[in-house]
Amino acid sequence: MRIPFIAGNWKMNNTVPEAEKLVHDMLDTLNRIEGVEKVLCPPFVSLVTLRELLKGSSVKLGAQNMYFEAKGAYTGEVSPLMLRELCEFVILGHSERRRYFAETDRIVNRKIKAALENGLKPILCVGEKLEENEAGRTEEVIDKQLNQGLNSVKPTRNIVVAYEPLWAIGTGKAASAEQAAATIKFIRNTIAKLWNKNIARDLRILYGGSVTSHNIAEFISQPEIDGALVGGSSLKPTEFSSIIKQTAAIKL
Ligand code: PEP
Repeated sequence: MRIPFIAGNWKMNNTVPEAEKLVHDMLDTLNRIEGVEKVLCPPFVSLVTLRELLKGSSVKLGAQNMYFEAKGAYTGEVSPLMLRELCEFVILGHSERRRYFAETDRIVNRKIKAALENGLKPILCVGEKLEENEAGRTEEVIDKQLNQGLNSVKPTRNIVVAYEPLWAIGTGKAASAEQAAATIKFIRNTIAKLWNKNIARDLRILYGGSVTSHNIAEFISQPEIDGALVGGSSLKPTEFSSIIKQTAAIKL
């Protein structure tokens, strides 16, 4: 049984006071929802404050990125050692990191290893560009991202994979639930080959890309889809709460 998983990726939004207010506005509602693993991924600067606010609640924290070295002369970077006392999860390989910050599969691979070695659970993002999708290359692209991103990573259940087609992120044009489920099935089969069938069966694989309270039910109704990585809609308390409530209701 895979526990459904919903994570909110706030991206570069919200000052610390705004982050506190957003959590205040939805915490009671989120706390009352059972049966879903709920994770907020705010910018680094809000992690300390939110860790205090979320103490004793069922809502967990994740970071949006991390460097792979433990410490040293890497101005501007944040290490797994720093994060592991603040949060449980870390998003790695998000398409915005790959696109604007030149993150390659090799870098993502080093980050995944560093996160796991330090007890952090990576949320590994994979997904194809529009032109790759149109050229029928989705599986080829994802196969490479998984094989290189997880290269020589010891098989583990402490990882969540998010399928996020780039053309669906922040565009309001979500993939169809059937399309997302088919690619997620492909991801599970690829991990079964790379690691083994038992771990692949147990891993949570999410869909991400323009998820809202209006389309979450379609995605979550697909048995292959274990949850969602939510960007824009995670910044709206009513939207995000509704996404989690619907997930709990459908998956239970
Ligand atoms: C994301 O940032 O991971 C994402 C899926 O964004 P959005 O929900 O806004 O498309």
